Amino acid sequence: MNIKEKLYERFVGYVKVDTKSDGANAANTPSSLGQTVLAKMLSAELKKLGLKNVLLTKHSYVLAELPANTAKKMPAVGFMAHMDTSPDFSGANVKPKLHKNYNGGKLVIGNGIVNDPKQDPNLKFCKGHDIVTASGDTLLGGDDKAGIAIIMTMLEYLGENPQIKHGPVKVAFTVDEEIGHGSALLPLDKFKADFAYTLDSYIVDIGRGNFNADACTITITGVNTHPGLAKGVLVSPLLIASEIITMWPKKHRAEHTDKEKGFIHFNEINGGIEKIILKAIAREHDLKKLFAMEAELKALCRKIEAGHKGAKISVQFKESYRNMKDILKKQPKAMDYLLRALKETKVSYRLEQARGGTDGARLSFRGLPTPNLFGCYSSAHGPYEWASLDRMVDTLRVCLNIIKER
Ligand SMILES: [Zn+2]
Repeated sequence: MNIKEKLYERFVGYVKVDTKSDGANAANTPSSLGQTVLAKMLSAELKKLGLKNVLLTKHSYVLAELPANTAKKMPAVGFMAHMDTSPDFSGANVKPKLHKNYNGGKLVIGNGIVNDPKQDPNLKFCKGHDIVTASGDTLLGGDDKAGIAIIMTMLEYLGENPQIKHGPVKVAFTVDEEIGHGSALLPLDKFKADFAYTLDSYIVDIGRGNFNADACTITITGVNTHPGLAKGVLVSPLLIASEIITMWPKKHRAEHTDKEKGFIHFNEINGGIEKIILKAIAREHDLKKLFAMEAELKALCRKIEAGHKGAKISVQFKESYRNMKDILKKQPKAMDYLLRALKETKVSYRLEQARGGTDGARLSFRGLPTPNLFGCYSSAHGPYEWASLDRMVDTLRVCLNIIKER
């Protein structure tokens, strides 16, 4: 079997385990039983491959180590992928389908589901690749089981090719990434990597940064009275909430921004005539711009408050996560090793700042610089998802070039 066939065989085995994370059970880690099933499978496989210090934690994280096979001092490099799949769509009874030598046109997945490059431009990049999809009634789970398959197949390849000299390799498979708990309980004192990579980006994007994120809560009270006697007295918090939303400038709204531009996005409203709680999320790559935008929202609220006698508006922001870009700049090894390996492997890539958060961002702030490398999947979290086996082979080669002796 060649590397591509081995990747396929592994990948198909992993996606058949239903590991959908469960937001309603987020107080428990992992949030679903299937993740523990896969974690046990993976730890057994790591032992079989001869890895050292294989650890299955009580929260179903899997850690392992491939010691260096050279006396030369090399950094300990970590590779990570998450075992859970998105709670947005079914991951039960996934029936994987192989589309050999994809022709660059319509990708007929089944059950009436058809993807194409107009819908997902990443497909354009993968013309001629061997593509895997599900069958139209589930997601595929390439996010992030493609990452797991790449890491495992690389470990097997290194075992079969002892002439490849390399530094220490650390491996971690994490849980509940899709519900934002992916890295919280990863024991870094046992992982002991100098820097790491999540294999969880799409096809060509390398995540060298991510959003700064805050949660915003706006509490609005007015003056309530019997509507029959309301003339000149009633101040409605509902009206005030609608003013805040409609007066918030277009240029700072999610539906009008892309690339490196941030936004404040109102996403929840609760309450009644006594009190309204309006919630929003604030996202921006540049922390100064994030704070400026938040100040702008506060100023707008003060202005609206002044226009309604008796109204009170309080605006509160709470930090969710921060951009890892500055950490990756201050501790540049992770990006340096990655960029050199990408050039050596001659694979194309695009450096980008993710318009979201990653496990790597949280880990970077816990002291482990962790950029995001290709997960080799696209159109994730639903039935349109697909993964490229050719891109998985490329990514495996990039990983080998990161760890090889120099
Ligand atoms: Zn993912």
